[in-house]
Amino acid sequence: MAPLLEIRAARREFATPEGGKIRALDGVDLDIGANEFVTLLGPSGCGKTTLLRAISGFETLDGGTIRLGGVDLTALPPFRRPVNTVFQSYALFGHMTVARNVGYALEVAGVPRAEREAEVAETLEKVGLAGMETRKPGQLSGGQRQRVALARAIIAKPRLLLLDEPLSALDRNLRQQMQIELKTLQDKLGIAFIFVTHDQEEALTMSDRIVVMRAGAIEQIGPPRDIYRHPRNRFVAEFIGETNLFLVTVDRIDGDTALTRTADGVELVLPAVGRQPGERLTAILRPADFTIAAQGIPGIVTRAVYLGSDLHLSVTPESGGQDIRVTIRDGLGIGEGTNVHLGHEPTRVHVLEGT
Ligand code: ATP
Repeated sequence: MAPLLEIRAARREFATPEGGKIRALDGVDLDIGANEFVTLLGPSGCGKTTLLRAISGFETLDGGTIRLGGVDLTALPPFRRPVNTVFQSYALFGHMTVARNVGYALEVAGVPRAEREAEVAETLEKVGLAGMETRKPGQLSGGQRQRVALARAIIAKPRLLLLDEPLSALDRNLRQQMQIELKTLQDKLGIAFIFVTHDQEEALTMSDRIVVMRAGAIEQIGPPRDIYRHPRNRFVAEFIGETNLFLVTVDRIDGDTALTRTADGVELVLPAVGRQPGERLTAILRPADFTIAAQGIPGIVTRAVYLGSDLHLSVTPESGGQDIRVTIRDGLGIGEGTNVHLGHEPTRVHVLEGT
């Protein structure tokens, strides 16, 4: 099936006041399916907002194309595109009721009153705000205001909804609740969402696919699990989730396993397939890939913090070198100063060629 959105070789440059140029989009290719939840993730200034604005039509491209449902969007002004945006700042009209805020676009478009009211009622029902029609934004909670903004964005039945950090103003609990609500709503509406966030956990829990961007270009696209378990390079590995990176040299092959060590003498075992003695690699292990074992990397716990039911440890290897971050479930008897051995399964190591 053809994708809903097809972005090809999108380029956008900005002149900086300092007299230089910035490539905000540097050859972006991206396909998005009709019912996909895709998150754009990347450091500040990597081009996420510029990409959203180019899709919605508030930014023009210097090169490349954006097609939606097979139609080139280039010549279409924002209001003619079947796309709507939810902003972090909601931008609700404070003097209007919830119902009028939500129905405003239909009002402007001249939709008759009875039809408009039916659409507003149906949309408020979808976002769980039935019964709040006559309230003003100032009489709502943060989460309810967010739902009004959502209702207003979906009432015209866009095929694609762009969400620019819509949850960042909410406190942690409400934010987690809204994450679930948003995902449920997206399933129910059956439309595509492109979501921008700075919060990796949010991206990992909500997305069908994550797009990791850096300096105007896409570094990796994939389902959250793939991006987390198989990052394509160091940048993605370090940007998504906590990680331990080891620059290792293969010492020898022993049956199914390759024995490797870092310059400091920390020893790791990898699957032997494709490995050669003397080869230099980057080995990646997530904190939960380590276990406290009878044998393994000897070290001392230098920090131990409980987060929920997980114990997060920093372990300084006996041989020296960077601290290793470890997360374990049952940390009974382990605290700062405890001597431990860190074990790991060879197959849990993700290998990047080269160092
Ligand atoms: P953040 O996460 O901080 O919101 P972002 O990934 O959304 O960042 P963009 O807002 O897309 O990043 O900006 C990309 C780059 O383009 C940045 O270096 C920014 O300074 C620059 N930029 C964006 N808009 C303009 C503009 N109108 N004029 C000049 N430079 C701009």
